[in-house]
Amino acid sequence: MNEQIINALQRAIGVKKVLLGADVSSRYEHIWTMDVPLNAMAVVLPSTTTEVSAIMKICYAHDQPVVVHGGLTNLVGSTKTQSNEVVISTERLNQIEEVDAGSRTMVVQAGVILETIQQKAKDKELLFPLNFGAKGSAQIGGIISTNAGGLRVFRYGMTRNLVLGLEVVLADGTIISSMKKIIKDNSGYDLKQLFIGSEGTLGIITKAVLKLVEAPKSRNSAWIGLTSYKKVIQLLKFLNKGLAGTLSGFELVWQSTFKALTSPPASVKSPLPYDYPYYVLVETLGSHQQKDLETLQALLETAMNDKLIAEAAIAFTESDLNWFWQIREDVHVMIGACQNNQQYDISIPIPEIGKYVKKIVKKLFEIPEVNLVYPLGHVADGNIHFSIGKTKQSKKLIHQINKTIYKPLKKLGGSISAEHGIGWDKKTYLSFSRSPEEISLMKTLKKSMDPKGLLNKGKVI
Ligand SMILES: Cc1cc2nc3c(=O)[nH]c(=O)nc-3n(C[C@H](O)[C@H](O)[C@H](O)COP(=O)(O)OP(=O)(O)OC[C@H]3O[C@@H](n4cnc5c(N)ncnc54)[C@H](O)[C@@H]3O)c2cc1C
Repeated sequence: MNEQIINALQRAIGVKKVLLGADVSSRYEHIWTMDVPLNAMAVVLPSTTTEVSAIMKICYAHDQPVVVHGGLTNLVGSTKTQSNEVVISTERLNQIEEVDAGSRTMVVQAGVILETIQQKAKDKELLFPLNFGAKGSAQIGGIISTNAGGLRVFRYGMTRNLVLGLEVVLADGTIISSMKKIIKDNSGYDLKQLFIGSEGTLGIITKAVLKLVEAPKSRNSAWIGLTSYKKVIQLLKFLNKGLAGTLSGFELVWQSTFKALTSPPASVKSPLPYDYPYYVLVETLGSHQQKDLETLQALLETAMNDKLIAEAAIAFTESDLNWFWQIREDVHVMIGACQNNQQYDISIPIPEIGKYVKKIVKKLFEIPEVNLVYPLGHVADGNIHFSIGKTKQSKKLIHQINKTIYKPLKKLGGSISAEHGIGWDKKTYLSFSRSPEEISLMKTLKKSMDPKGLLNKGKVI
């Protein structure tokens, strides 16, 4: 049977685009496990939507499960691969097909890397505002499939707010092409939204129309030290009002995390002393570098005089900006310090975050094996990440920590995943943030769009 499928795939897209044996095991299923050989039946490398469709027609006819590999940067085990699966890698769907300055759109194939998209937009004096630490590896297909968030959601929204059109291949090979550049389209259901954030379980994204914005003419940032969580929320409100729509980032880092991000092995030092329980990194994107800098400076002076903030360091040069953002973006330093690491990205209403984190950190340290807890997050979006280190690894321990973090969320109206998705790792906990009726509707959708359960089997639901 395997031979039959492989022969059919080779005939459909060419022998060179179907990797087998050693060519499969020289690959991996995640950028953090490059030393673990990929175990899959075959890896296929389509370079057009028609080829993806041909692959799916063959897989559908043979009941062959597939898993899509994008940039392999997800944090929820969603590219985990079984030995009987065919991997569809989108690395050769890597063309930017068009930048339309008039409609402020970019047409991209699924395998284009985020940083390439950002640079292309910049070259045309436009901005693709999505930004996060894995931008050098994450591909737009994977980003859309996970509805990634990141560092500027507060101002520009999640990925779903930045996608105008999509081309998708369904489980049976049908191509759904809805590549419109228009912002408003209420002609029936907004089908593209079904595929955004569904982690490759409903269809394979091959192309997208992305929404761009005019490039800002100024970018300013500051690291700010604060003495209480209450003041963090007050500062958010104060800056949001005072900056008249130019506030684009408001990242909160707890003291222990800030220390880990700014001391060896981190290559960057801290711009502030380690005296404060909370550190906030703000970003403004505006229209006049000097004036916007002065506005931010004046607001921070007022905040300091009013004892709202304790101390601030402003970025005065491009190299300061890179330094400040490197602190926030180089989270691998913090993650690397955590042995047997567990990652979280939960969402709760902003006013609840301070109390919740305090309580959870205390509870986590009561677990004898837990030795490191690093909280930080996109607090303006109500999104907090935890990185947890522990001296041992066991299923029981993982579950105990998961329950500690997830259990209070329902009552608080929160979510077990703000932006990373459910994938493989969080599937058991979906009911902590979704009702039985919601999960049942998800299952109905999955069944009607992928009746044989071939796409990313075992992920999400
Ligand atoms: C250092 C670091 C920082 C990060 N920061 C953030 C952050 O701030 N915000 C955030 O939201 N995420 C963040 N992430 C998580 C990750 O980068 C995102 O989830 C990203 O969107 C995944 O893109 P990818 O191309 O790597 O997808 P992959 O990991 O390859 O795949 C992710 C999922 O999408 C599916 N998929 C991939 N391509 C397609 C396609 N074309 N069609 C259908 N399904 C597809 C896969 O099967 C899988 O289920 C971070 C990760 C790292 C390592």
